[in-house]
Amino acid sequence: MNYFIEVIVPLSLPKTFTYKVSENEFAFIKKGMRIAVPFGKNKIYTALAIDLHQNEPTLYEAKEIHQILDEKPIVNEFQINHWFWIASYYMCNIGDVYRGALPSALLLESETIISQNKETFVDETSFTDDEFLIYEALQHQSSLKVENIIDILNKKTVLPVIQKLINKKIISLQEEIQEEYKPKLVKYIRLHEQYQKEENLIALLDGLKSEKRKNLVLQYFQLQAQERQPVSVKQLTETTQTSAAIVKGLVDKEIFEEYFIQEDRVNFDKNKVENELTLSQTQQQAFDEIVNSFEEKEVSLLHGVTSSGKTEIYTKLIENYIAEGKQVLYLLSEIALTTQLVARLTQHFGNKVAVFHSKYSNNERVEVWNNVNQNAASAQIIIGARSALFLPFSNLGLIIVDEEHEQTFKQQDPAPRYHARDAAIVLANAHLAKVLLGSATPSIETYYNATSGKFGLITLTERFGKVQMPEIELVDLKDSYFRKKMKGHFSLTLIEEITEAFANNEQVILFQNRRGFSPVLECMTCGHVPQCPQCDVSLTYHKYKNQLRCHYCGYSMAKPTNCHVCSSVDLETKGFGTEQIELELAELFPQKNIKRMDQDTTRGKYSFEKIIDSFKNREIDVLVGTQMLAKGLDFDNVSLVGIMNADNMLYHPDFRAFERSFQMMTQVAGRSGRAEKRGKVIIQTYNPLHNIIQQVTNNDYEGMYKEQLYERKIYYYPPFYRLIKLTLKHRDFEKLKEGSMWLYQVLQQNLTIPVLGPEEPAIGRIRNEYIRTIMIKMPGDASIQGTKKTIQKILNSFDLVSQYRTIKVTVNVDFY
Ligand code: ADP
Ligand code: ZN
Ligand code: ZN
Repeated sequence: MNYFIEVIVPLSLPKTFTYKVSENEFAFIKKGMRIAVPFGKNKIYTALAIDLHQNEPTLYEAKEIHQILDEKPIVNEFQINHWFWIASYYMCNIGDVYRGALPSALLLESETIISQNKETFVDETSFTDDEFLIYEALQHQSSLKVENIIDILNKKTVLPVIQKLINKKIISLQEEIQEEYKPKLVKYIRLHEQYQKEENLIALLDGLKSEKRKNLVLQYFQLQAQERQPVSVKQLTETTQTSAAIVKGLVDKEIFEEYFIQEDRVNFDKNKVENELTLSQTQQQAFDEIVNSFEEKEVSLLHGVTSSGKTEIYTKLIENYIAEGKQVLYLLSEIALTTQLVARLTQHFGNKVAVFHSKYSNNERVEVWNNVNQNAASAQIIIGARSALFLPFSNLGLIIVDEEHEQTFKQQDPAPRYHARDAAIVLANAHLAKVLLGSATPSIETYYNATSGKFGLITLTERFGKVQMPEIELVDLKDSYFRKKMKGHFSLTLIEEITEAFANNEQVILFQNRRGFSPVLECMTCGHVPQCPQCDVSLTYHKYKNQLRCHYCGYSMAKPTNCHVCSSVDLETKGFGTEQIELELAELFPQKNIKRMDQDTTRGKYSFEKIIDSFKNREIDVLVGTQMLAKGLDFDNVSLVGIMNADNMLYHPDFRAFERSFQMMTQVAGRSGRAEKRGKVIIQTYNPLHNIIQQVTNNDYEGMYKEQLYERKIYYYPPFYRLIKLTLKHRDFEKLKEGSMWLYQVLQQNLTIPVLGPEEPAIGRIRNEYIRTIMIKMPGDASIQGTKKTIQKILNSFDLVSQYRTIKVTVNVDFY
């Protein structure tokens, strides 16, 4: 009798593979266990068993496995089915999905590089012989490949030993991002040590000349007595209505000293659920409607304006599912938001909340994976970015997709190019679970589903605490420039409003959807504009670093002092980015603390969190930033939002440009006036009458939706047509042109649906690779799987044409 298993190999291959096992192994192996297998020439991979059978493969001779790596399955059938669905729907290989789904520490292979984890204390006496040999080898070499270890131990079955050393934190994977997630730090103050003595304190109070300072110290005592808790800088400045600068002065004078506590350590005792949550009447009504709609619908949309308290409604809903012992998955569009959310949810649910995201170390990810797999109480609620969708849930009750309109839910590269919202709906379906989508600005697709009855729809038009929606004022840039009512890129209206906000001790957000100083540097003599040598795009001027930089490939050069073509020194900048706004603002308001938040200032560890925290602590007066500001952040002292230029968003060559502009502006505007006061928003634009600008101003989501839906219909776009975008890349322009024409023509001849292209995208070359795209539009009534099969067949035959084999083709289904 022959025994075989069917496995997925973590390589970009479309097929599963058959391996030979012994009768004993056959009895032991279960679907979802990892198996170390030989593959190709002398390579070892961690494969996943998905079937057991007795059918000998006909095309090749089955090899024997090396070793069974698990005692129990670490992947369940819900997942395996879901992964096959993803591979089929998004037209990628099952190996791609498997590789993307598992934390890399669970996917050891011969190429994996490991190194010693210097932070862990090592007790050599506890090692087995094999463990010791590996450890010793790492004393002579900073890193080793798994295949080196195979040589050192002189056996093929090394993965379990390595896994053990990883679990003991003795070694770690080299590619691992070392940066570990740290909960938010809150700044606290206390009186300097010397003032513990009463006589010193009295002397201090007598000696303080400034009334403000004296008052601050007295208030500090009062707060401390009232709260019987540490006093945060934020608390103190709020109750005393003083600026953080005065507190800072007292710290500099060594009267106060600062210290930091992790937010989750102070606010709650992890094991105790403290906070009773009371929904407002409107929230309660929305909550009841959601519960009702779940009676009939699998998916519901909560369309709630910014600051309507959607998070509180989610929380209440999660309670229901937790009470039934179900697992809950809470998907976030942006991992930088997890800290805020974890704090809010942990306060409510204690230690039932676990986080899974890419900033976690491999170890932590494996830990969460195992906890979910065991259905542990400590991982009942999972917060994560889109990849959390791949965890081994066995008992899902609810998936929440917050800010469902966000583009970040769609994976771009590498495959699988899945949309987490849509894949979540399919996953929930298998678990008979519910999905709640939430947004103040739903995507057109989702709103279409919600209004056509496919999804439930719950609308919340009121902000929490009945705070009014911000008042939006438009400034006509053309008119303002003409009447000389501008200083640099600031209209006098905006300057006035900023001045007023400062006078009220309030904070300001300025939005400009472009980083750097200016996107173009132009020679005024000959018109030359410096371009990236590797991409077809002009270089952005970064004044701070005095560089020209490419935003597509990262190329940079020092800013030239004269034109490279005609040597003229008359160079001028065109257009503007966040840097320029920051600099102009510093000239207008030299006393104020201005910070910039864009990709350039948030590259470092926790830099995003740090900026957000100090803004929340009111150490920053104005935050200038890009679209990062549009992510559901909750500030309580921002009374003014300025949108520096609404127009460059509107004129993107993309059918979603109008929808996105609406979403972006509405979301940024939503950061204004969250606490007890109505906020103000100034939008500077050359097109005050543009429909989108009008719709943003009137908070007219419905109007935007209707108009965009009409456009989508007549131009064959989603939700009426599904898009499949093929991207072809090659360094040889002619070859690419020919190849894409060939592919286009074959597709065109074999499909009865619209095929467009081959088109040269707005940026036709990136990193020296030329790019062409072909867009296929599938009407709602087309047989989707049939069409995809045809496309796949054509792509396979494209691969067989020898002169085109080196052209890279990627497939993006439901291109976003
Ligand atoms: P959204 O996500 O809808 O923009 P949030 O959930 O961030 O809104 O809520 C906005 C603010 O209102 C938050 O500071 C939140 O703490 C507060 N809030 C909302 N609902 C309640 C409630 N029921 N009780 C107390 N505070 C609430
Ligand atoms: Zn020139
Ligand atoms: Zn470039």
